[in-house]
Amino acid sequence: MIIVAARVETIVNSVFSSNTYLISSDESSDSWLVDCGDMDKVMKILPDGNKIRGLFLTHTHFDHIYGINELTRLFPECLIYTSEYGATAIRSSKLNLSRYHESPVEYAGDKLRVLKEGDIVKLYDVVEMSVIETPGHCPSCLSYMTDEWLFSGDSYIQGLKVVTNLPKGDKAMAQMSVEKIKSLIGHRMLFPGHGESCIIRHN
Ligand SMILES: [Zn+2]
Repeated sequence: MIIVAARVETIVNSVFSSNTYLISSDESSDSWLVDCGDMDKVMKILPDGNKIRGLFLTHTHFDHIYGINELTRLFPECLIYTSEYGATAIRSSKLNLSRYHESPVEYAGDKLRVLKEGDIVKLYDVVEMSVIETPGHCPSCLSYMTDEWLFSGDSYIQGLKVVTNLPKGDKAMAQMSVEKIKSLIGHRMLFPGHGESCIIRHN
């Protein structure tokens, strides 16, 4: 059995304390991000010589995307993974809610890759991200799962109700997404969009 030591590091962003996750492996110079805020904090911990190959967006609300243009400037080849709705919202400061902040964000690059339920993206030889559609908080919501990790964005934050009172939030869908994530999590470490990562105990 090949053991690839891939790891996740957490960055807490200055806007709304959203989490960015940096995924790296000692056996590769490829790194990956889940959500993107303060890029200066990412660059401080990115291993020397590593490139960020892809950004997985859990959804396209401002606090989870606002570093995207800086990321693209630093790593022009970086792919941006999001849902179909996300691919529209990332280009619209109205839909991604950034127009209500000081610095509206609209992605103008051509590296968008649309993901849907069941899609798989290979990070390292034995580490793959599979895509779970978890709408409700926002129509763009995707969660991502490997054998060991589950990135749930704002679709599931343990101990908190999912926020559904933002534009295009849907309470019933959000509840279905929570159930879906809970049924999939198993032994995996949960990495939410805000707050601490944790292992969910099953009763
Ligand atoms: Zn959000």
